[in-house]
Amino acid sequence: MPLTAKTIGTDYSYKHQVFWPNAIGFLILHLLGLWGLKVLLTGGVGIKTILWTFFITYIAAEGITTGAHRYFTHRTFKATPLCRAILLTLQTLAGQNCMFIWCRDHRLHHRYSDTDGDPHNSKRGFFFCHIGWLMHKKHPYVIELGRKIDMSDMQADWMVMFQKKYYYPLYFFLALFIPMWVPVHFFGEHWLDSLFFCYFFRYVFSLNATWLVNSAAHLYGTRPYDQNLQPVESWFVSFMTLGEGWHNYHHAFPWDYKAAELSSLINHSATFIKFLEKIGLAYDLKTASPEVVANRIIRTGDGSHYKLGNEEARAAVTAVGPLHPLNPTYTTTLKAPDAILKPEGLPLFHEKDVLNVNVLERNTRAA
Ligand SMILES: [Zn+2]
Ligand SMILES: [Zn+2]
Repeated sequence: MPLTAKTIGTDYSYKHQVFWPNAIGFLILHLLGLWGLKVLLTGGVGIKTILWTFFITYIAAEGITTGAHRYFTHRTFKATPLCRAILLTLQTLAGQNCMFIWCRDHRLHHRYSDTDGDPHNSKRGFFFCHIGWLMHKKHPYVIELGRKIDMSDMQADWMVMFQKKYYYPLYFFLALFIPMWVPVHFFGEHWLDSLFFCYFFRYVFSLNATWLVNSAAHLYGTRPYDQNLQPVESWFVSFMTLGEGWHNYHHAFPWDYKAAELSSLINHSATFIKFLEKIGLAYDLKTASPEVVANRIIRTGDGSHYKLGNEEARAAVTAVGPLHPLNPTYTTTLKAPDAILKPEGLPLFHEKDVLNVNVLERNTRAA
């Protein structure tokens, strides 16, 4: 089925088939995570273990946000080999699949955002784009377009391919064994309490925080930068994910290391990248200039921008929870756009970056 001849949207008549081993696996994982929460709430682990778990949850999150997302997927800055090794290690600690697959899925998500080519198409509702996509067989477009996503930079990086090859033993050692073993060996915890709290609870918590970027940050919020894009601005998701919830900005300027207009507000990963730059591990940080951002807001924004928006659009917004100075988190009357894309898809690395349709067509015919 050649995809290049038509636009890509969402076929609502298509029913995703459940992949039962994953569905049952995620159910069991969440039950074990809840057991880990019970261990915490009933005083099953001491303060040192709680601090340790907080620490590894944080560094693993940087492995995802700074490492997998802002560096490996979007190449928003350049990194020294040592920096790449650290980010890969932290990303393994998070246990969210190997770097190669994580980035391929995320590149696909941006190219064909909110259509059937997007692995977690938010047009199919909160449950599907949050966790449901991992419990269903992939849409045929996801499989076909996934093969065409350019991953040559990742294939050329031996560290990425090493992690891909040995992912399961690395996962076992870094995501499971080390987080669990440290409290047993150093803080005298029972290994079962440590397993349930430091592995299952932490894992389920951080997975759900990451998934909020695909669900809540595509559904509940405002679109001050581009109202033609489904993703929204959400301070809550930013709070949960070290700054990944300024998602309307991020999809409008995916190559910006800040993944937000401002690096100073609920954007810990931007601060972390600046820190990496300061100690010489990161360089050539890419960012959209204030003029380019202002032009975009005026040209395509929904009018809710805190500075360049208008009263009428801002009045259409109702906040749920505490009001963030830059943006409330919910909108009632501003409608989500229809996502219908051309085969060349949306940019990933710079403003004019789209797929070469002629090359795609040739590949499709050859396949
Ligand atoms: Zn997104
Ligand atoms: Zn992204």
